Amino acid sequence: MTDAPRLAPLPTASAAPAGRPARPPQPQRVLRVKRTEAIAPHLVRVVAEGDAIDTIPESTQTDRYAKMLFAPAGSGLVPPYDLAELRERLQPSELPTQRTYTLRKIDREAGEVWIDFVVHGDTGVAGPWASAAQPGDAVVLSGIGGGYEPDPSAAFQVLAGDESAIPAIASALESMPADTRGHVVIEVDGDADHLALTAPAGVAIDWVHRDGAPAGTSTVLTAALRALDVPPAGTQAFVHGERETMKALRPLLLDAWGIPRAQLSLSAYWAYGRAEDAFQAEKRSPVGKIFAD
Ligand SMILES: Cc1cc2nc3c(=O)[nH]c(=O)nc-3n(C[C@H](O)[C@H](O)[C@H](O)COP(=O)(O)OP(=O)(O)OC[C@H]3O[C@@H](n4cnc5c(N)ncnc54)[C@H](O)[C@@H]3O)c2cc1C
Repeated sequence: MTDAPRLAPLPTASAAPAGRPARPPQPQRVLRVKRTEAIAPHLVRVVAEGDAIDTIPESTQTDRYAKMLFAPAGSGLVPPYDLAELRERLQPSELPTQRTYTLRKIDREAGEVWIDFVVHGDTGVAGPWASAAQPGDAVVLSGIGGGYEPDPSAAFQVLAGDESAIPAIASALESMPADTRGHVVIEVDGDADHLALTAPAGVAIDWVHRDGAPAGTSTVLTAALRALDVPPAGTQAFVHGERETMKALRPLLLDAWGIPRAQLSLSAYWAYGRAEDAFQAEKRSPVGKIFAD
């Protein structure tokens, strides 16, 4: 599902690749950082507040995400950004940068949105921003989408991924009926990165460790899933993380386990050695595709 522009659309248009029509402008919801919490050594939760939360459409999808916009530090740009106008007068490096993040929780009563950021060192835009975020900082949510909701009639649930997928996996587990059976496998660096996830009693949770290997270079997630028993017919799976790992898991999930495409949510959330701009652009070339078709 994509976001219908329910706020007054700004006079912006996404830059479209050659030959493609420009996407309609996306509404920008401007929130403010309320507080941050280090929920694990490599995960920072940014809790945002603001009236614009009320305009986020209700949904039962548990992997809802936003295209977040980050203005360069010290740029003085004030959101919402008129991207079309800014593109006319600024260099690309002076424009807000777009990054994709799961909306871990939308708590309308408390007036909060939680977004959990992987802290992956000094590189990038969003990770370092989250590490340094202060109350009052702007949190700009642009296009909101999603594509998965747990099927309560599924015989079994498999959920797997690295730290970047923990927010979506945690949301999915919280929404599952109490009698759900399943298996979760999550790749993190080590013991200190384990989180206390709320899940139905019949869902086993395994944490597998890179033990100091850089994220995106380890095969522990693939090995752990290959070592599982073949899940029963009627299994639904949600598997997301680094691109090459997702490619390596495709034949296991589709062919060896026989999970139909309609019951399989498998995609890359990031790619080793690629900033998100390059990662997104590569989705149009063979290296960026998880499925051939
Ligand atoms: C639908 C969707 C939902 C997502 N939800 C979340 C989420 O809830 N939380 C979250 O943290 N991420 C999430 N991601 C992944 C996130 O968008 C990327 O990790 C993004 O590249 C981070 O931006 P950045 O500015 O920090 O780093 P970038 O500038 O994009 O990249 C800089 C460098 O850091 C590396 N890098 C990027 N991400 C990681 C990582 N996770 N671990 C190690 N190295 C990395 C890149 O390979 C590159 O070398 C999601 C992605 C998608 C598509």
